[in-house]
Amino acid sequence: MTPTHEENANRWLMDAGLRPTRQRVTLAALLVGDGQHRHVTAESLFDAAKDDGAAVSLATVYNTLRAFCDAGVLQEITVDGSKSYFDTNVHDHPHFYWEADSRVSDAPSDELVIQSLPQPPEGMEIASVDVVIRLRKK
Ligand SMILES: [Zn+2]
Repeated sequence: MTPTHEENANRWLMDAGLRPTRQRVTLAALLVGDGQHRHVTAESLFDAAKDDGAAVSLATVYNTLRAFCDAGVLQEITVDGSKSYFDTNVHDHPHFYWEADSRVSDAPSDELVIQSLPQPPEGMEIASVDVVIRLRKK
């Protein structure tokens, strides 16, 4: 973890109103330390933390990702109803899901046009629309 990565991590946690515990700073630095958006799974972040020499358990990674989502600084993308990806870009945008390597990446949002949506049931409103475009080799 470089000093810049740690600074970025601390600022991100502060903006989220989260107490910068050592484990949160470690994971936040891996997520947003370089200022780039990324998509991770709990497992991929756990592996990255291990490679970085951090002593965190997979359960801690899960709980921390959950806390980041609750704070609104991470967005969860669910594919197949079971596999969760976490995105540091919390603005609405479509995703490609690469079936062959179980990977998620951003799809160009300016090329997505949603013309109409089904009327929500009485007393309900649409909270969000998730767009995941599944890819496979032709
Ligand atoms: Zn994304």
